[in-house]
Amino acid sequence: MANVLITGGAGFIGSHLSELLLQGGMRITVLDDLSTGRRDNIKKFQENNLFKFIEGSILDNELVNKLVQDADIIYHLAAALHVKLILEKPLSALETNIHGTENVLRAAKKRKVKTFIASTSEIYGKNTKQGLDEEDDRILGSPLKTRWGYASAKGIDELFAYLYFKEYGVPIVIARLFNTVGPRQTGQYGMVVPRFVSQALQGEDITVFGDGKQKRCFLHVQDALAAITMLMSNEQAVGKVFNIGNEEEISIEDLAKKIIMMTGSLSRIVYIPYEKAYPDGFEDMQRRFPSVDRLWKLTKWKPTMKIDQILESVIASARL
Ligand code: UDP
Repeated sequence: MANVLITGGAGFIGSHLSELLLQGGMRITVLDDLSTGRRDNIKKFQENNLFKFIEGSILDNELVNKLVQDADIIYHLAAALHVKLILEKPLSALETNIHGTENVLRAAKKRKVKTFIASTSEIYGKNTKQGLDEEDDRILGSPLKTRWGYASAKGIDELFAYLYFKEYGVPIVIARLFNTVGPRQTGQYGMVVPRFVSQALQGEDITVFGDGKQKRCFLHVQDALAAITMLMSNEQAVGKVFNIGNEEEISIEDLAKKIIMMTGSLSRIVYIPYEKAYPDGFEDMQRRFPSVDRLWKLTKWKPTMKIDQILESVIASARL
């Protein structure tokens, strides 16, 4: 039976991944420092004797080494990743995202453990191309604008992973996730879908930042997991990077309207200028539209859920 280590396994995507792999009969160890991950997310697995939770940090080199010694597969999802967190604690976010990944890769190197590296669509920065592909240029603002710290750190992580593959033969797979949403995601750190849903359900104003014309493509976490696990079981994915996202776009303003309609809420939309919504050092992206051709060619994966179904799932779980 495969021993799987999931860093960040108490987080939003990590806890769904833990659940899926446990259902598949795998033995799971979750390493999470509970900075943004939550005990609640993994509560229901605690009784399962295939599941083990270790509260600790990916910055703890000794602990990471020890856990990787017993692992056959690693899913490295732990990161400081929410816009709010990155703007409020930019230095610790940078350290976690760079040194944490380095620790995981260094530990994986000894036994060449297969390692999934979670990256992000932030990598592309301000590139507004419709159908961003993995080889497209990254357009980033000044590194001293804190928002770009995340994209910079994840860029370094990807390069580390790629070089551990090239130089040491560590079988890594990198995926750039585009706006993944679903049950258990919290709006606490700014993520737009859970935020709007909770505002709508509570009858609060829906806070659209800027003019709301910026667009995003939202992907349901279950579709993301299908892609991640397909990639990890495909030998041809090793050493490569893949976009995982939905090719259906919606503006943030339309998202707000849709959520109001679907929840039957009496909430109003309020437009908040960026300077009021975010601290200094913030620049928003106007658009982030993936091409998933590379992934499709290898695995025939396509997302199964469109925006209405995705929002239904988030709204239903928020109502529980
Ligand atoms: N956003 C918004 N109101 C909120 C939270 C976010 O209008 O209460 C906007 C945000 O400025 C961005 C988009 O929604 O344009 C997506 O934000 P999120 O933080 O979810 O993801 P990302 O910016 O990383 O795509």
